[in-house]
Amino acid sequence: MEFKADLHCHSSFSDGSDSPENLIELAREKGLGGLSITDHDTIGAYEQAMPYARSKNFPLLPGIEFSAMYKGEPIHILGYGYSLKSEAILQLCEKHRLRRMDRNRKILQRLKGYGISIDEGELLETPTARKTIGRPHIALVLMKRGIVESFKEAFDLYLGEGKKAYEPGLSISVEETVKAIHQGRGKAILAHPQLIKHQGYVKEVLKMGFDGLEGYYAKLQADQEARWIQYAQKHQWLITGGSDYHGTVKPLNTLGSSWVGEETFNLLYQHYLHVSSSA
Ligand code: AMP
Ligand code: ZN
Ligand code: FE
Ligand code: FE
Repeated sequence: MEFKADLHCHSSFSDGSDSPENLIELAREKGLGGLSITDHDTIGAYEQAMPYARSKNFPLLPGIEFSAMYKGEPIHILGYGYSLKSEAILQLCEKHRLRRMDRNRKILQRLKGYGISIDEGELLETPTARKTIGRPHIALVLMKRGIVESFKEAFDLYLGEGKKAYEPGLSISVEETVKAIHQGRGKAILAHPQLIKHQGYVKEVLKMGFDGLEGYYAKLQADQEARWIQYAQKHQWLITGGSDYHGTVKPLNTLGSSWVGEETFNLLYQHYLHVSSSA
C-alpha cells in the first residue's frame, strides 16, 4: 500500500473527540505510516501520545495548530518537528491559555445576556491546564441543551465572527507565532490557505518566514488546492497535508483523507529525531 501520513488532526486535548491514544490506534488501523496530532494552541497530548507511539513503534511527529490574527482575519499556523521541551512553544501555549480563558468568560457573559447560562466547568469533561477550550466546546453545549440544532447554527447565531456572542479576544500575530515555532526548532506551515477569506492576505503572510504551506487539506477539490501547491513549488517550500480530523465534532473529515507521502514525512520526522536527540 502507498505510504500515507496524516499531518493534521485534533485530539480531546483541544476540540477533537478522540484521545491521543485512540488517534494513534485509528491511524494504525487505517494503515497510515505516520501521524501528527495538531491540537489548537496546546502540545498537552504529547505527554501521553509520545510514549504510547513509541511503545507501538509508530512514527508520531510533534505538531500543533496555533491561532493567529492578521488584519482582523484568523490565520492558522501549523508547527511540526519542534522540540517538545521548547520554552518558546510552551510559553506561547500558555499565552493562548490565558487569552482563551479571558475570551471564553466574555463569550459566556454575552450569552448570559441572551438568557443562556453556561458554567465554565461545563465546557470540558475532564479539564486540565494543558487542554484548549474554545468556541467549538461552547457550540457543543448549545447543541446539547437544544438551544441550537447544529454546530453550524451555533456559529451562525452566536459564536461566529460578528455574531451575538462573538468576542475576538487578544490577537497574537503571525510573526510572533512563526518566531516561537522557529525558536522551538520546528517548521512553520501556513494551514489551509484556501480558507483565508481575503485571499490577498495569503501572499502577505507567506512573507513572514514560513517554511511551507498546507497544500492537501480535508475534502478540497484538486483545483482549489492547485494554486497554492504551484506557488509553494515555485518557492521550493514544504507542502504538507492532512484531514483536520476532529472525530464526532466534525464527522465529515475522516482520518487519512488528506495526507503526505513518504518523502515529506521522512524529511519532517528525521528533522524531529535530530532535534529531539540534540535537545
Ligand atoms: P476558536 O479557536 O475558539 O476561535 O474556534 C475556532 C474553531 O471554531 C475553528 O477551528 C472551527 O473549527 C470552528 N469554527 C469557526 N467558525 C466557524 C463557523 N462559522 N462554523 C463552524 N465552525 C466554525
Ligand atoms: Zn479544531
Ligand atoms: Fe484550522
Ligand atoms: Fe485543524
